[in-house]
Amino acid sequence: MSKTDYYELLGVDRSVDEKELKSAFRKMAMKYHPDRNPDDKLAEARFKEINEAYDVLRDPQKRAAYDQFGHAAFENGGGGFGGGAGGFGGGGFSDIFEDLFGEMMGGRGRRGAGGRGRGADLRYNMEITLEEAYEGKTADISVPTAVTCETCSGSGSKPGSSPKTCATCSGSGRVRAASGFFSIERTCPQCQGRGEVISDPCETCSGQGRITRERSLSVNIPAGIEDGVRIRLGGEGEAGARGGPPGDLYIFVTIKPHEFFQRDGADLFCRIPVSMTTAALGGQFEVATLDGGKSRVKVPEGTQTGKQFRLKGKGMPVMRSTGIGDLYIQVVTETPQHLTRRQRELLEEFEAISSEKNNPESSGFFSRMKNFLDGLAD
Ligand SMILES: [Zn+2]
Ligand SMILES: [Zn+2]
Repeated sequence: MSKTDYYELLGVDRSVDEKELKSAFRKMAMKYHPDRNPDDKLAEARFKEINEAYDVLRDPQKRAAYDQFGHAAFENGGGGFGGGAGGFGGGGFSDIFEDLFGEMMGGRGRRGAGGRGRGADLRYNMEITLEEAYEGKTADISVPTAVTCETCSGSGSKPGSSPKTCATCSGSGRVRAASGFFSIERTCPQCQGRGEVISDPCETCSGQGRITRERSLSVNIPAGIEDGVRIRLGGEGEAGARGGPPGDLYIFVTIKPHEFFQRDGADLFCRIPVSMTTAALGGQFEVATLDGGKSRVKVPEGTQTGKQFRLKGKGMPVMRSTGIGDLYIQVVTETPQHLTRRQRELLEEFEAISSEKNNPESSGFFSRMKNFLDGLAD
């Protein structure tokens, strides 16, 4: 039976570079991996071929020999490669695996001495009001998290006892499983890669070294905080496994929409409806401000709708600075509705004695529009 071309096996071009080759191999090896194809002899055979192909092609010398002589390069005992059935189970093979599948198959074994993994980061969503964002606050929060077990100080072993070296892997955390022609190194199932087993587990945490508990924390929310800001509390995440370093806690702050104020950076905006007569005759009103006080806004006679007034220094504080934004008040004139007969009479009378001077914008606009139409007609 003739052997399949190595390049074909990996589905790559003959000019393939190292990176593409590696990724092609990874893809194929995943597809035909015995763990994914239990009891499938064909997949197993293909998996072996793929490994063989990659082992040759990733080595520049072997690849050059193969390019020149094909499979014949390795059939006459050359290069120390095809030296019989055992020729493939050497160190090179597990190296490839360590390299490519380490994360997938033995991630926990790579976390370092004794499998002391760093604890997970936690996310806490906090919604605050605009007033709270203005003032800043200290928020007391309660976070369910894994904390170090106090009984065993995180070791997982009953006080007075200590973990024993794992007999299955002799403490290395990895075992080699022979599967006929080749062998695969994987995380030790007995100790999950930690290299040691707890013979006498702590009763409080069942040997986990950490327990789940509601933790109370005080979080300082600075004045002027903006919507969507993330506050990191280093080391306040989950406790690490068996005394490993803790993760971080991230507070995601969102600010509730405010009934009156819209925010843009440090500035605040507020639309205020005023009656037609107030806008025409002039007047004043009061607005509440976030500092808890009130500001008086004077509406001059003849104020147009959309007119904006600025209240300096009545906006939001700027986070971690002494700066402060402004509050912009926009007045919107409200046209009177549901007129009584008397009101209608008065307005009609008012209209009758009005001149272009009273409404320069609209009269000007309509005379310009008339000119424009006349121009079109010519
Ligand atoms: Zn414990
Ligand atoms: Zn073990």
